[in-house]
Amino acid sequence: MVFTHDTELALQAAVTLVNSAEEPDTLTTPAELDVLWDAYQYSGRRDRTQAELDAVRALRPRLRSLLTSDRDAAVALVNELLREATAVPQLVRHDTFDWHIHAIDTSEPLDRRIAVETAMAMIDVIRADEMTRLAVCADDTCEGVVLDLSRNRSKRFCSTTCGNRNAVAAYRARQR
Ligand SMILES: [Zn+2]
Ligand SMILES: [Zn+2]
Repeated sequence: MVFTHDTELALQAAVTLVNSAEEPDTLTTPAELDVLWDAYQYSGRRDRTQAELDAVRALRPRLRSLLTSDRDAAVALVNELLREATAVPQLVRHDTFDWHIHAIDTSEPLDRRIAVETAMAMIDVIRADEMTRLAVCADDTCEGVVLDLSRNRSKRFCSTTCGNRNAVAAYRARQR
């Protein structure tokens, strides 16, 4: 593990959310938000409304900037997000999670909580000087974000689809 469990989960959630904006958009219905919710074990308030979905969708460009900017720019964005939400970090323990940080109340709207959670996770990334764990997909035609939590830092593609497409292309290039 590179970061703590809650940090890694928050980063993975943010990357999945940001990448859902890639064509074809995979976050267009409340049901698709349910999938994200379950996959990343979110808790707390859930409205299941179009407004909630729209707010989460609208957060994606901002999170994308946060995940793909350089370290100093990321600091400015983290501080801005935390200031906006008047974040108050508190250690909490609930469900199957051991002590971890919540910096915003669970009754706040989902998009605000995701924003703060991502900002808190990025604090760890920035402090550890591990921004290189985040990159844009090595596929020429893809703008997906890649989160590399592997020991040997070998992850270059955002998805197995991109990985396979490039493996096939490389194979064909060798056959010529
Ligand atoms: Zn929690
Ligand atoms: Zn990709």
